[in-house]
Amino acid sequence: MLVLIVEDDPSIADSLREGLTRYGYEVEWVMSGREALAAAPPDLILLDLGLPDMDGLDVCRQLRAVSNVPIIVITARGDEVDTVAGLEVGADDYVAKPFGVREIVARIRAVTRRHAGDAPAMGGTRDEVAPPPIDVGTVSIDVAARRVRRGDGEVALAPKEFDLLVALTRRAGSVLTRESLIDEVWDSHWFGSTRTLDVHVSALRQKLGPDVVITTVRGVGFRVERADAP
Ligand code: CA
Repeated sequence: MLVLIVEDDPSIADSLREGLTRYGYEVEWVMSGREALAAAPPDLILLDLGLPDMDGLDVCRQLRAVSNVPIIVITARGDEVDTVAGLEVGADDYVAKPFGVREIVARIRAVTRRHAGDAPAMGGTRDEVAPPPIDVGTVSIDVAARRVRRGDGEVALAPKEFDLLVALTRRAGSVLTRESLIDEVWDSHWFGSTRTLDVHVSALRQKLGPDVVITTVRGVGFRVERADAP
């Protein structure tokens, strides 16, 4: 498995490279956003947000626009805004500096496990039955293709927005607790702010309009109203 490290601080990159190699990963290292965007596609990207030539968030956004590669954002700023912003532009997870190699490896494993779960079976002989689309009003969610249609148009969602929408609409009519949503959409070892969840819910509300009604149940969680509800 090839991990691309995008980090301009040589001492951090060196220790990461050494540590990850010890765990059996192949490692490429680049120091700038431009090099990251030009690099051969890796299996996973560790992306520092503080880069000399570009804002790491822009790098993340541009990578995500062309690829589904797992991205773990590294933030030095210990800043909640950065973290939420990183997830908003499509990062799968984040770690804050300083971190240990074991922590990074745990995140890499969790993120790749989740991605493997998302990916369609390749070249296998198993007859996987694609999950049926979920319909809410005029919105149709193709879970297998990870696409959302609203009326005649397609709605572009970030990966986590899509996962959250599926989690909510699969059990439309039921209240889902904040904890269970964070667990399902992010990970059980989520250390981030739970504000991330609210950010994603408002993004969904904005992108889906009145067709999907997401009700906030104060102190508990969220509920997607069934389309046939009165
Ligand atoms: Ca940096």
